[in-house]
Amino acid sequence: MQSVEQILLPEWMIPVSEKPSSLENQVFKDQAVVIDNGVITALGSRREILAQFQSDSVVELPEHVLTPGLINAHTHSAMTLLRGYADDLPLMEWLSAHIWPAESKWVNEAFISAGTNLAIAEMLRGGTTCFNDMYFFPDVTARCAEQAGIRATVGMIVIDFPTVWAKDADEYISKGLATRDALRHSSLVNAAFAPHAPYTVSDQPLERIATLADELDCPIHMHVHETAHEVEESTARYGMRPLERLERLGILNRRLCAVHMTQLLPAEIETIAERGVNVLHCPQSNLKLASGMCPVDAMLQAGVNVAIGTDGASSNNDLDMLGEMQQASLLAKGVSDNPSAMSAYQSLYAATMGGAKSLGLENTTGSIEVGKAADLMAVDLSDPSTQPVFNPVSLLVYSASRSQVNHVWVAGKQVLQNRTLTTIDLEETVLEAKGWGLKIADGRAS
Ligand SMILES: [Zn+2]
Repeated sequence: MQSVEQILLPEWMIPVSEKPSSLENQVFKDQAVVIDNGVITALGSRREILAQFQSDSVVELPEHVLTPGLINAHTHSAMTLLRGYADDLPLMEWLSAHIWPAESKWVNEAFISAGTNLAIAEMLRGGTTCFNDMYFFPDVTARCAEQAGIRATVGMIVIDFPTVWAKDADEYISKGLATRDALRHSSLVNAAFAPHAPYTVSDQPLERIATLADELDCPIHMHVHETAHEVEESTARYGMRPLERLERLGILNRRLCAVHMTQLLPAEIETIAERGVNVLHCPQSNLKLASGMCPVDAMLQAGVNVAIGTDGASSNNDLDMLGEMQQASLLAKGVSDNPSAMSAYQSLYAATMGGAKSLGLENTTGSIEVGKAADLMAVDLSDPSTQPVFNPVSLLVYSASRSQVNHVWVAGKQVLQNRTLTTIDLEETVLEAKGWGLKIADGRAS
């Protein structure tokens, strides 16, 4: 008998290793997962595995479904501190009259740390094991992620106007690259270029980012075609739609992780499919800001890689990936007038493998396969809201709530055990967020 670190024995397992079009053989019963040094080293039936391996840590998971950890493909984690700060407004008014002024008043390293810790606590308790972030002080975000033991891609943010993080495009890029360099030995956190949006970043820095991203083979994370207003403004200012401008600047390729994409012509869907552009779909943020609706069904049919993100907690207003999967499926059906659009399995695929592919992490995470990191969540289906169990995939996407996520592992380390976080002091994290909330509310009143 071979001794191993950990053996998990879930009642059901959804490995998400098949293509999203196939639903067959995606749910396995009575499987066992062997974990050693943070990596999945063997998979098989409970009987086979227990005949070959032994461990001091054999975890029985009756009535649980084990899936890959969820990947929140687009968020601004520190913005949890601005959750509910300004609601029910269109994007540009929400940003320019509320969010940007609040950020210029409050954002500093302590704000980022408090907000990111709050976000990570919320995400881990909802089954998210990896997040793709875009915000100021990515070095602080990276430190919080490493301390909490969650996988992350932090954004090397670039925006034309000065902020507390940097004064101009050159400084944004150089501070971003320094953050990336400092992370080169990290096993959990890496960095992507994150020019904020076509309407906030001018041609010169975008050209430089295009060149650097090619040289470094690094993803580019950017809000693109979020609203009709953005497209109209670009047409008036540059004489072309943002996607055409990005193409001319050399950004429209497989490295681009384009967030939102609610305004697309059929020819643009063909182009992004050809170029291998990834779409980071944020259905709840798009609905809440009435930004428009992303044509996910048409994109999936064209072969576009789609990932799912929550966006920041100030435009959603939570970081609940189970809720986001449900919204993605329901919205796709409504938009395309087709009830078979974005099946439950397609949403689960987008929230796991889709996210991993967009970030270039498809060989590391996103599915339960031998050789990949043990990034996993176990959801308890014994709750009345998820009974009876005909199809665990359907239950996860259409019925389960995140309070049923009982256990989470990142790189084999159990970071959530029976709903308790093992790497984060939840009480202290919430207390700190409350303190910031009071300070920000006082500042607004005065
Ligand atoms: Zn965003």
